[in-house]
Amino acid sequence: MWTWHDSTLTKIEKTTPTTWRFWLKAKDLDKIDFRAGQFITMDLPIHERRRKRWRSYSIANAPNEKNTVELAIAYYEGGLASEYLFKEINEGDTITFKGPDGAFYLPPKIENDLVFVCTGTGVAPFRSMIFDLEKRDFDGRNIHLIFGTRYENAILYREEFEALAERNPRFRYTVTLSREENWEGVKGYVHQVYETEYADKPNTRFYLCGWQYMIDEARERLEKMGFDKTKVFYELYG
Ligand SMILES: Cc1cc2nc3c(=O)[nH]c(=O)nc-3n(C[C@H](O)[C@H](O)[C@H](O)COP(=O)(O)OP(=O)(O)OC[C@H]3O[C@@H](n4cnc5c(N)ncnc54)[C@H](O)[C@@H]3O)c2cc1C
Repeated sequence: MWTWHDSTLTKIEKTTPTTWRFWLKAKDLDKIDFRAGQFITMDLPIHERRRKRWRSYSIANAPNEKNTVELAIAYYEGGLASEYLFKEINEGDTITFKGPDGAFYLPPKIENDLVFVCTGTGVAPFRSMIFDLEKRDFDGRNIHLIFGTRYENAILYREEFEALAERNPRFRYTVTLSREENWEGVKGYVHQVYETEYADKPNTRFYLCGWQYMIDEARERLEKMGFDKTKVFYELYG
């Protein structure tokens, strides 16, 4: 029913205290064919029951001709996959995956300005989309990435997004930190950022990615702002 692929875990980068980047290279494919925003599902040796071993992770790199994907994975203390991926597996080991799957991708042509709202590793599918869209100069639209986390040392892909914002005025990057005291940038949660900036921009489309507490709250707030369901898309991590 599903096609599973063996891959080699070619590299682990301990990027932030709680999030690492992982690179998988498929052993039996010349190219991993996916749309920016999709995810793969790994079958990890963390449970005797098959379905309880599966964990999905968004692909963080833009589509290309390679057979490698990059993932950004957060450590969650006591989580079965977290404990395995952060404490047991090593570079060179084999990981079995299926996919890419998922419908969290952009339309072929972007007709509206887009706001991407995420917390933590929820930035992964947006990184894929943003660098994919950059190849088409964002179809002439504006993209605003709003990334929230607690502390400055947990900002993912910061240099890349800052550099992109420097070189392309169509891309805006806002980081908001909820717990960092000595932070001169935006403080607080992601919600305040879009509420302040998009109240009077009804043609904007919103894409949300992360855990349920953030997504539920954003959907509720956006609805109150007048953005109905056809303007808000989301990927729920759990
Ligand atoms: C489509 C999709 C894409 C995903 N992409 C990513 C990704 O790119 N990066 C990534 O790190 N994760 C991603 N996830 C989440 C991932 O699949 C796992 O759920 C996560 O790694 C936790 O697995 P675990 O086995 O460590 O925890 P489990 O043993 O499954 O978790 C135990 C409990 O903790 C909760 N939990 C676990 N982690 C968190 C957290 N960080 N915040 C709040 N509650 C949590 C779970 O809901 C569960 O109730 C994605 C999930 C989906 C469905």
